[in-house]
Amino acid sequence: MNYNVNKKGYYGEFGGAFIPEMLYPNVEELRQNYLKVMAEPEFKKEFDQLLKDYVGRPSPLYFAKRLSEKYNTKIYLKREDLNHTGAHKINNTIGQILMAQRLGKTRIIAETGAGQHGVATATVCALMGLECIVYMGEIDIARQAPNVARMKMLGATVVPALSGSRTLKDATNEAIRDWINNPVNTHYIIGSAIGPHPYPDMVTRFQSVISEEIKWQLKEQTGKENPDYVVACIGGGSNAAGTYYHYLHEPDVGIIAVEAAGLGIDSGESAATSVLGKEGIIHGCKTLLMQTPDGQITEPYSISAGLDYPGVGPMHAHLAKTGRAEFISITDSDAMDAGLELSKLEGIIPAIETSHALAIFKHKTFKPNDVVVMSLSGRGDKDLENYIDYFKI
Ligand SMILES: *Cc1c(COP(=O)(O)O)cnc(C)c1O
Repeated sequence: MNYNVNKKGYYGEFGGAFIPEMLYPNVEELRQNYLKVMAEPEFKKEFDQLLKDYVGRPSPLYFAKRLSEKYNTKIYLKREDLNHTGAHKINNTIGQILMAQRLGKTRIIAETGAGQHGVATATVCALMGLECIVYMGEIDIARQAPNVARMKMLGATVVPALSGSRTLKDATNEAIRDWINNPVNTHYIIGSAIGPHPYPDMVTRFQSVISEEIKWQLKEQTGKENPDYVVACIGGGSNAAGTYYHYLHEPDVGIIAVEAAGLGIDSGESAATSVLGKEGIIHGCKTLLMQTPDGQITEPYSISAGLDYPGVGPMHAHLAKTGRAEFISITDSDAMDAGLELSKLEGIIPAIETSHALAIFKHKTFKPNDVVVMSLSGRGDKDLENYIDYFKI
């Protein structure tokens, strides 16, 4: 079984590029060039240098002793929370801004929901001195004021999406409209392992630095490159794709994907796509998608803004369908408890997205000698108010 993208842009039956004809030249230009550009020694050198000196990579692989004792297994945390801007998203935006420059683009657009990807994009645009326009639903702008302020401070223009439910998918529609109108000078930075081919593969390759580092770091610490499990939370699936990438074809490594169950899978307020999703098209690709019987996208719900997405990337749809990955869904309350637990046991306050991954230890029992590597996708500073409200701290 092949878990990577094939030449036609598919992971099994998922993926492809379902785009308006007017977008074809942009996506085709990217498709024809992305692998070639990424293979250029100059590109690799600049990417690696920025990951090291600007992002702060390699991120540590930390053996969480007290957490391991509590759950009687061996837990290693891959500290993406220590990256510049506080999460893994910067790995991808650095890669894509360099790609945009190689393709001669001078203007960057992005969509954002909670604002995390918007901030990561505004950051690299400031770094490179490129114009940055971030589309964001009007409702999200009101909900995520600190991230809106960050983007503005970094020099980006934040444009409200005023149509539909005025959230992420409407912002995406606006960004796509912009790209159609500005095909020559503009690059669209998508923030997760989603979108039309080649985006899911390109984003996965930029994020694959995560598992590339895990391999040598784990070898250094345990003498073996392969853990028994790799675990990550999944919104669209970029931190997960990067954490799994170099282990996809290693059958001795179990893959665990953690989704947000919201208030519960059957509550009507959920984002557990692997359970609730059916095949459909979102964001330009065929994947698993939460939808009504007549194909309208269902509004997802999760306490964590980053997992509040009605689909998963096509790689993950394929991993779910083939059974290569085990999917576990975690409710808001279990996630919040796990976030508080990590804070008290290890002195690390995780992002609420990450707390979903941490909650699996209450749901799945590992053997004492199992080595479990978990992507600690982001830090909890942005979620402090949420934690405070929830726990009445
Ligand atoms: C955005 C985000 C996620 C979800 O995005 P993926 O593309 O699924 O990785 C997870 N964790 C954090 C901290 C995030 O900011």
